[in-house]
Amino acid sequence: MEKVIYLDHAATTPTRKEVADAMYPYFTDKFGNPSSIYGIAAQNKNIINQVRETIAKTLNAKSEEIYFTAGGTESDNWAIKATAEAYKQKGNHIITTKIEHHAVLHTCQYLEKNGFEITYLDVDESGKIKLEQLQKAIRPTTILISIMFANNEIGTIEPIKEIGKIAKTHGILFHTDAVQAYGQVPIDVEEYQIDMLSASGHKLNGPKGIGFLYIRRGLKLSSFIHGGAQERRRRAGTENVPGIVGLGKAVEMAFADMKERAERETQLRDYLMNRIMAEVPYVRVNGDRVNRLPNNVNMSFQFIEGESLLIMLDMKGICASSGSACTSGSLDPSHVLLAIGLPHEIAHGSLRITLGFENTKEEIDFTIDAIKEIVEKLRNMSPLYEDFIKEKKR
Ligand code: PLP
Repeated sequence: MEKVIYLDHAATTPTRKEVADAMYPYFTDKFGNPSSIYGIAAQNKNIINQVRETIAKTLNAKSEEIYFTAGGTESDNWAIKATAEAYKQKGNHIITTKIEHHAVLHTCQYLEKNGFEITYLDVDESGKIKLEQLQKAIRPTTILISIMFANNEIGTIEPIKEIGKIAKTHGILFHTDAVQAYGQVPIDVEEYQIDMLSASGHKLNGPKGIGFLYIRRGLKLSSFIHGGAQERRRRAGTENVPGIVGLGKAVEMAFADMKERAERETQLRDYLMNRIMAEVPYVRVNGDRVNRLPNNVNMSFQFIEGESLLIMLDMKGICASSGSACTSGSLDPSHVLLAIGLPHEIAHGSLRITLGFENTKEEIDFTIDAIKEIVEKLRNMSPLYEDFIKEKKR
């Protein structure tokens, strides 16, 4: 196959070469356990704390508020389960949304089986929560609001500042899953009044299996993993030093060029969306047109199976996603697309393209041509489309 065009950066990103180079010595010469007292090992403790400091600065947080985890899923689990455990005397009610990642949704469903009550907020057709609905959902027993910063399928950015304000006014903790947003858009935990924030290394050109949870100082959260004294006794286990070093380098690089990268990706994103909208009939863009991650395009093509489109794009070397659960063996369309009100048959014809720093305009032009050709081919094979066109001509 010719060169691969990778357009699925919401799933994972290629690790930057500089990141892999920075990690390498920590597998070989600098392999010491940070808890040991001799020099080569103890140095690693300093390195870990330097990365903590680097990350804290990007969020306007303090370094002791950053806890390393194995990634976004663990951070989400920790924030939600530990809040439930620590604040159960105060109440048993948690508010989240219908469009969260499964790391949040399944954690909430688990808590429901253990006596907690969860409100799953609706979203409007652009994927944003309704602030009045959030206000109304608050009860005297509400202990946590967990709402994602930006959605992984449709890219919509939630009104985080307003949510933080509401949470603060009612004395409720606010957790945000920022796995897709961190490194893409500026985040200030003070300005947005965020109490806990999840992020993951492999979404910002860092390694897999490493992430962090920001926990505001003073929160009485329970330990997530019990054992040794690592991460101030809150998350035991020998630290993933190469992973932490890689995360640190990836964060440095992501924040060094965030503004320019976002501008470039926004231009490519809009170019792709506008050309497809102009050149392909019966297509709609999903997600908010303005408050949207710079790298996310999500479109639904009528009379098309998203799976077939993906397979045919793959045959041309283009990696994208259907943004649905189909790939996991389920025929249910994405819970996010259903939550924004798409009928099943439209949700099934969806395509998610997520850009990265390495994508070029030539790649996007090639992709647009490929989409046009494949959509036409698939529609010509579709009895539904044939009936639709016959009906239209009548
Ligand atoms: N939350 C969101 C919004 C995500 O997009 C993802 C990954 O796709 C996760 C959580 C899980 O992150 P990780 O793969 O690091 O466990």
